[in-house]
Amino acid sequence: MLQLSQGQLNLLETCPRKFQHTYLEQLGILTTPEQQERLLAGSRFHQLMQQRELDLPIAPLLQADPQLQGWYTAFAQSAERILSLDLKENCITMRQSEYPLSLEFSVPWEQANGVPATQNYLLVVVYDLLIWGEHQARILDWKTYPRPQNGQWLQQDWQTRLYPFVLAETSDYLPEQISMTYWFFQAHGEPAQGGQAQNDWVSNLEPQSLNFPYSATQHEQTRQDLTHLLSHLAQWLYEYQQGVPLPQVPVAKGVCQSCSFAWRCQRKEENASAGGQETIPLLAEIQEVAL
Ligand code: SF4
Repeated sequence: MLQLSQGQLNLLETCPRKFQHTYLEQLGILTTPEQQERLLAGSRFHQLMQQRELDLPIAPLLQADPQLQGWYTAFAQSAERILSLDLKENCITMRQSEYPLSLEFSVPWEQANGVPATQNYLLVVVYDLLIWGEHQARILDWKTYPRPQNGQWLQQDWQTRLYPFVLAETSDYLPEQISMTYWFFQAHGEPAQGGQAQNDWVSNLEPQSLNFPYSATQHEQTRQDLTHLLSHLAQWLYEYQQGVPLPQVPVAKGVCQSCSFAWRCQRKEENASAGGQETIPLLAEIQEVAL
């Protein structure tokens, strides 16, 4: 059974060929030292928040890491607000960090000879923090980059769609009782890492959030979107085994120039980069570092 995360669904929707290169062929993508450092810093923050939730010592993690101290100070000063449910719900029954869930999801597809078939997938999620209330559940996700000015793209991101979907399918909560909130612990204008004094970091104290309520309508839309995308994937995987590569995104979408596989795909303009070097991908293309 093929296991799929939100990151893989995003990649598949962006470009099936990129999904092929990254997950089926396990081709690595280049990252800059700055991107690596930001990923590791984000990973350290997730580890810190998990240790806090488990009542394990966090002082050793905070020592000698002013960036982490700044983010944690911001969290601590708003913790009551961040960790609460809404005013109608004051009964939190459980909180769990780095909480994994999985859901088996089957889709129909049709083989080349017209024979109907079924493909099974395992959809996997890991919630940074899941708050279980008596009548509602809230999924929290920590981000160590600035809150986007426009949350529209985040609403369409597969993380926002998949995380509530899996919870609704695997719990007694109705979709309307579920919400997802992203907390951003890096303010706009925060200085890039490297040699800054501690005061530079702790001056940005107010974490920002984006909240996405969930509904039965969104739930059914996500089910349809998953069925549509994963039926195509079943077909593409079948053809891939016959030697047919997965489809490339249309050039007009404009995503190839910033893709690290542009040279491999012959989508790089001759004058775009000298020396045949593959480009460095955007940070958003790189998976978060797993704890
Ligand atoms: S270069 Fe374009 S077609 Fe090739 S993997 Fe990247 S996004 Fe897809």
